[in-house]
Amino acid sequence: MLPTNFPALPQGLSAPAFNVTSAAIQASFNDLFASVDSRIFSGIPLAYPCFASTTKNGAECGEVQRQYLNETFRAANFGASIETQWEICQRTGAQCLLDSSNPTARVAQSGTCDAGSVSSYFIDVRNAADVIAAFKFSSQTSIPLVVKNTGHDYKGRSSAPNSLALWTHNLKNMSYQPAFVPERCPKNHLSQPAATFGAGVQWAEAYEFADVHNITLVGGTDRSVGVVGGWLQGGGHSVLSNTMGLGVDRVLQFKVVTPDGIFRVANACENEDLFFALRGGGGGTFGVVLEATLLASPAVTLQAVIVSWASSNRTLTGQLWSVMVDNALTWAADGWGGFSTSELAILVNPILNSTEAEKSLESLINFGNVEVHGNKVPGAQVVVTSFPSFLSFFNEFTSEHVASVGTNLAIASRLIDKSTFSTESNRTALVSGLQRMNDAGPGMIILLTTPFSYLSAPAERTSVTEAWRSSVYHVTAIAEWPWDASADDKRAAYRQVSTAVDNMREITPDAAYQNEADVYEPNHEVAFWGSHYAELWRIKQKYDPQHLLDCWHCVGWNPESSRFSCYL
Ligand SMILES: Cc1cc2nc3c(=O)[nH]c(=O)nc-3n(C[C@H](O)[C@H](O)[C@H](O)COP(=O)(O)OP(=O)(O)OC[C@H]3O[C@@H](n4cnc5c(N)ncnc54)[C@H](O)[C@@H]3O)c2cc1C
Repeated sequence: MLPTNFPALPQGLSAPAFNVTSAAIQASFNDLFASVDSRIFSGIPLAYPCFASTTKNGAECGEVQRQYLNETFRAANFGASIETQWEICQRTGAQCLLDSSNPTARVAQSGTCDAGSVSSYFIDVRNAADVIAAFKFSSQTSIPLVVKNTGHDYKGRSSAPNSLALWTHNLKNMSYQPAFVPERCPKNHLSQPAATFGAGVQWAEAYEFADVHNITLVGGTDRSVGVVGGWLQGGGHSVLSNTMGLGVDRVLQFKVVTPDGIFRVANACENEDLFFALRGGGGGTFGVVLEATLLASPAVTLQAVIVSWASSNRTLTGQLWSVMVDNALTWAADGWGGFSTSELAILVNPILNSTEAEKSLESLINFGNVEVHGNKVPGAQVVVTSFPSFLSFFNEFTSEHVASVGTNLAIASRLIDKSTFSTESNRTALVSGLQRMNDAGPGMIILLTTPFSYLSAPAERTSVTEAWRSSVYHVTAIAEWPWDASADDKRAAYRQVSTAVDNMREITPDAAYQNEADVYEPNHEVAFWGSHYAELWRIKQKYDPQHLLDCWHCVGWNPESSRFSCYL
């Protein structure tokens, strides 16, 4: 029996394990409902209106079909994730998906819409009291809690079957403080320009805000990733990180409700252990962050160089990556950040002027002019330009490069240490490893987004693996699979990216970015947190003694939990 106050389940969706077995549990439901001003809703999979077994709705279905691959639309719908395997139950095959290769063509006339991994209910969070009530409820009923912001998580950490979710999407407050001093810090504490963002703000919104205030924020290269959720708490890399640090380097304060039901401020002067844990220990683990304050830097002009071509050419890719790897340490010291795929390199720089930039990247520009342009390679492009602000770069970049959205996708990655670039034989081994990695999987990206040149103050402790500081590249492999793939095909895709990254595991120390890691990362505690794991575990036990928050490969996770029953 469902609790009397909760919204009726939509037609056709299987009943969640929200059974009222006693008067005490019914009382907990009643308390929760009243505490959150009735802001509890059913978790309905995005494509629900398109299924005949449900209350099929032509107009709503048409909208879902049109927007199926739109990340902003997905992030604004509770029942969607960016990568669709986290909406379904991978293990049983129960799902409610459209064909992502052609979502407008296929309407699921037959078939059943199953809630899969979409949380059964969610609270539209508006304040700390909502979160406190949810922790109390979960503590009393043992119903699993999930924290969901944009649903971008590559490891499914923002969904779980038969759970109650805290949806932070509508916490959209933004403010600018020209001289911010963290709360409870002494009067002589350093004041700095900063911007504060509610937990639901997404990067496209934050960058517009920053542009209006003539400041630069270091953030993700994607429009709809959240600013202060999983991105920030898991590390947060950017094309500006080389010179300006990771997200965790720049956060000055969190406002957070910890699972013991207490609203806390965490900064350099108050709850320092929690501040340390939230600076890289991972989202969904130590509390529900309501807002965070980030360092704001002055506006920048970005110098940029782009070399690209249109079709695959293994020899040319090897030449490009040889130029990049041979010059990687110099370019990192010169302040460059950016991306490369097998047919593309985009590098941007916030500290050099245009003359210095051209001189610094002379070898890349020459390669582009001679080998790509000179040889009339189809689609050849060599662009040397500048952008007057970060926003202008971001808008152009994101209009041309959109990540996979609305599909099933596996990712795996590695941080590539500077020692891997140190001798000619190491560099040769790295280029050949990158080539083999590319050959082994359908897609890969080399990200020049590590904080290699960024010097943090010794007192500024973060909990991401120390390997970020000595790494020059963050390299990712991806593989997709069709909406109706079998469990074996799904397993094969996860294996494919993991095997591709083995080419890097063989030649680099054990380190990976937790937010873009292999779902089955071996030795993940070391790979994500290096020497910090034991300390993070102690902090987890202090603030979450009942283990109310849990997620896949998170600090202190319980692999036996029913919340992981849909993982393969
Ligand atoms: C298309 C795409 C582009 C990306 N680009 C970048 C990039 O440029 N740089 C980069 O570093 N990463 C990037 N990522 C990875 C990104 O950092 C992770 O997906 C991250 O987990 C997203 O966080 P979110 O809050 O937006 O998503 P969600 O899936 O909603 O949440 C992710 C995790 O954070 C937790 N969480 C969310 N909000 C809160 C909160 N308020 N308090 C506590 N826990 C919370 C969730 O429980 C979950 O564990 C990208 C991912 C995608 C899919």
